[in-house]
Amino acid sequence: MLGEGILKGLLETAKNFAGSYVSKERLTTVQYPEERLAPIENSRVFPFLVYDVENRDGGGPDWEAGLRCTSCQICEKECPPKCIFIEKSKDKKLDYLGKAQFYPTRFDIDISVCMSCQICVEVCPFESIKMDKHFEQSTDDRFGGLLLDREQLAKPNEYYHQIHPIEAAEVDARLAAAKAVFDAKAKAAAAAAAAKAAAAEVAAQAVPKPASEGA
Ligand code: SF4
Ligand code: SF4
Repeated sequence: MLGEGILKGLLETAKNFAGSYVSKERLTTVQYPEERLAPIENSRVFPFLVYDVENRDGGGPDWEAGLRCTSCQICEKECPPKCIFIEKSKDKKLDYLGKAQFYPTRFDIDISVCMSCQICVEVCPFESIKMDKHFEQSTDDRFGGLLLDREQLAKPNEYYHQIHPIEAAEVDARLAAAKAVFDAKAKAAAAAAAAKAAAAEVAAQAVPKPASEGA
């Protein structure tokens, strides 16, 4: 029937409106800011940069050393409104695998331009950038108040677990699996190198000495 969908939608709205006076389940609004709804797992606002609390290069907790970002700049290229700006380091630091990687000496996001599309998160190969749920960011500073630098964007992995527990646990499992494969390969390569060195030593000892040396 023509218009059936519209009628069904209006009926649902009417049920929720009337029901909200008698049933808590149909009351979907709260008296913000005194009352707040618990954020759901997949809600998102603006991106943040994840850092691991342990300093991978040694020396204690340090957000800068723990940043997962390798400054590959894929997110910067893919961001539709071009609101990410990154400067790559000249030197390298160790990542969670123990590989030397570049890091961002500058990483800014203009959240007044960001459209919360999450494309930066989806294209990041290093699980470095995730979507935050913190939305109360209003400011009267039009010229820089909404331009967040890497220190303002950096948040620990524990925070990521608090706001997206299911997703963060999956990411941790993926990183742990990748590290296990990397460690196994490194161990196998070390064992093969040791076996090769031992075989070379045995071969060197087996070479007969020239007769003149024995006289
Ligand atoms: S969420 Fe979208 S618009 Fe915002 S920084 Fe990421 S890619 Fe750019
Ligand atoms: S956040 Fe991810 S995609 Fe963006 S530069 Fe860092 S590692 Fe690359």
